[in-house]
Amino acid sequence: MSTTLPLPLGIFSTATNQRRRAGLRAGDEVIDLSACFNHTTVSARLPERKRLREALLPEVLNDYLRLGRSYHQSLCEILEEVGMDLLRESGCLHPLADCDLHLPVAVGDYTDFYASREHATRVGSLFRDPENALPPNWLHLPIGYHGRASSVVVSGTGIVRPKGQFKKHGDAAPRFGPSQRLDYEYELGAVIGKDSTLGQPVPLEEAEDYIFGFVILNDWSARDIQKWEYQPLGPFLGKNFATSISPWIIPLDALKDARVSTPHQDPTPLPYLRQGAFPTNFDIELRTELITKEGKRSTISEGNASTLYWSFAQQLTHHTVNGCNLRAGDLLGSGTISGPTQDTAGCLLELTMGGREPLTLADGSQRTFLEDGDTVILRARAGEVDFGEVRGTIRPANE
Ligand code: CA
Repeated sequence: MSTTLPLPLGIFSTATNQRRRAGLRAGDEVIDLSACFNHTTVSARLPERKRLREALLPEVLNDYLRLGRSYHQSLCEILEEVGMDLLRESGCLHPLADCDLHLPVAVGDYTDFYASREHATRVGSLFRDPENALPPNWLHLPIGYHGRASSVVVSGTGIVRPKGQFKKHGDAAPRFGPSQRLDYEYELGAVIGKDSTLGQPVPLEEAEDYIFGFVILNDWSARDIQKWEYQPLGPFLGKNFATSISPWIIPLDALKDARVSTPHQDPTPLPYLRQGAFPTNFDIELRTELITKEGKRSTISEGNASTLYWSFAQQLTHHTVNGCNLRAGDLLGSGTISGPTQDTAGCLLELTMGGREPLTLADGSQRTFLEDGDTVILRARAGEVDFGEVRGTIRPANE
């Protein structure tokens, strides 16, 4: 069996060639897949060259993902045999630092789940009732809602503070203005790599076949807008102004050594959500940093994706159980990933207990929610597999 770990993949351009094209991240270099066709020795070794060339024509990876994870594995093994020296001599490599990174896929549909028990419990306590923090359905199904694909942006994109309606404690009527409780949410996003069929549920044992890989996802949230608008239909303008993702898709197969079981699920889920012994969660370390406008950096949270109650396989199976189909390039967000202790929480709402307990940053300044000029950086790592980062800086609201 191959020991090659499949490489992260993304879309990049360079100053000298501004066409957006597919690249594989190999250390601090990027393999330019289109350039591999220009070199006879390298080109001759590419698997299914015609299909690959066609899949690389669009400026997004959706068609490449449809070639499949095993195709990607084969391609990475062949490129490893070709060797970095020959790739470099052939002009197929670029220093990562010279590459501009773009949205890797055209996101057709974006769904956001709520799969962390600790997050749902803390938010339920803050937004509703500490005695009944988890909604009655929570332990029986992975709750989700349909998000907005048009505002999914790549790391580095500025985030304009949203305006909206909110009602402060004691106000008789709602007011309109820039959100005063702007937050981030640390999530992982599963990138779908295979179309499913409308009307055909995907059984749990096949669910991972549809996941190509993962990105880090920041589901920016305006808590004041969210709180006023969310009942009865759920999140809307408090969420859909921006969702940032990291530029590199980490193939699911690169995480084979990071597999762990989900936490014990009690009550036992209904049969269609019941998992076997095969571990479906991943041990991925998550770190959140905040850089102030003045440039001072603080680590504000460290968590782990292994704490997710519902696995991505269960989320995907639940998503399709009614016959809803998925398409390559769709994005499934895990929901905020929060651990058992407050310093492992994945958003400021929890880290500051709804704004009641401000965080003290490295420079001594305090935060309840995000200020203009703040930069949030989410990083992830599973052993040797580095997810990179997703960052975004808060810009002032529009005049
Ligand atoms: Ca979310």
